[in-house]
Amino acid sequence: MFDSMKNEGIDGTERFDSPDKGRGLRAVRQFAVGELVFACPAYSFVLTVNERGAHCEHCFTRREDLFKCGKCKQAYYCNVDCQRGDWPMHKLECVAMCAYGENWCPSETVRLVARIIMKQKVTTERTPSERLLLLREFESHLDKMDSEKEEMNQADIAALHHFYSRHISGLPNEQALTELFAQVNCNGFTIEDEELSHLGSAVFPDVALMNHSCSPNVIVTYKGTVAEVRAVNEINPGEEIFNSYIDLLYPTEDRKERLLDSYFFTCQCTECTTKSKDKAKMEIRKIGSPPDEEEISSMVRYAKNVIEEFRRLLEMCELSQEKMGAIFADTNVYMLHMMYQAMGVCLYMQDWDGAMSYGEKIVHPYSVHYPAYSLNVASMYLKLGRLYLGLEKKTQGVKALKKALAIMEVAHGKDHHYVAEVKREIEEEK
Ligand SMILES: [Zn+2]
Ligand SMILES: [Zn+2]
Ligand SMILES: [Zn+2]
Repeated sequence: MFDSMKNEGIDGTERFDSPDKGRGLRAVRQFAVGELVFACPAYSFVLTVNERGAHCEHCFTRREDLFKCGKCKQAYYCNVDCQRGDWPMHKLECVAMCAYGENWCPSETVRLVARIIMKQKVTTERTPSERLLLLREFESHLDKMDSEKEEMNQADIAALHHFYSRHISGLPNEQALTELFAQVNCNGFTIEDEELSHLGSAVFPDVALMNHSCSPNVIVTYKGTVAEVRAVNEINPGEEIFNSYIDLLYPTEDRKERLLDSYFFTCQCTECTTKSKDKAKMEIRKIGSPPDEEEISSMVRYAKNVIEEFRRLLEMCELSQEKMGAIFADTNVYMLHMMYQAMGVCLYMQDWDGAMSYGEKIVHPYSVHYPAYSLNVASMYLKLGRLYLGLEKKTQGVKALKKALAIMEVAHGKDHHYVAEVKREIEEEK
């Protein structure tokens, strides 16, 4: 049906059949380093639950003076225009969030797919996000899914029915939904801010047209809900335009595993064949006799397990706080103990912002619960103060250090070198 429609394409590029890679995007003119190759508005997008209140649900603008949806009081907007613009999508969730309360918990993928289905219902023409690739042309790789992925897919479909069937009349059938979820899993994007914090999920069909390389010649960034693709190497006419789908920090073996697991292909790029950076990426300490292959690979396994454990630990901290928070107030001592542990994990992982926000929640209740002079309270003010100063929050930092000092001058004595040290830290900020 789209063949008869006029297709503008994307200036300076063309869709082509890449050898062994299927379709791809190719330059038909030169692009200089830093040049915008193309921009692509999101076909559909969703703000992540954790960023509600900090960003506009419709345009993703980060500002302090957003106002909230009067009905659900959970979605925030810049102004009435953004709220109106978002309503066709927000209405899928607004009433349901009120009705389900705490039990409203569809995954971000489910939320995104619900929006895609809604958009498909009202869209008959090729959208500006699909100048070269249509969303329904996305690969699903259904035949390559293992049982674990199939189960996740089924759970997502069940959640979609549970949370959205009342608000989307006539959901696609089971098979169509299985395909759509698989397509979104292989072709979806996460929108991140300048610190690479997760803001939301989206589909950008034309961006998804680009094949992967571990030495990509473009980088994708986001301006609100628009993806921008810029050249990071000079691209000559006839050259394929490659994006990276994964974190490029890791050595070839790890990248291979990740690409195969999530995107079902084996990368043949120059990095993957020459492995030129692997040695530096896997540097071994030069002391004593060098470890053998088996020792190294067993340490890699150990490291991967530990990293995964830490990730789960943080997840558990968040989940347990949510669960306990249903009954316990934030000032409850069990909540405080939990947050204290979570703060320790954040400090160890060098997540300073995370540690700071836990510290802020802990410190006031601490000073209520503990006696007037307490080492626990002093040390919490000290940690928080140093975190603030490290994060360039001078006023708050000095304030917290002074609170710590007031206790320490009594508990440690005015002559203690710890006291002198804190005084010096305060002095340095003047
Ligand atoms: Zn807005
Ligand atoms: Zn609402
Ligand atoms: Zn590669």
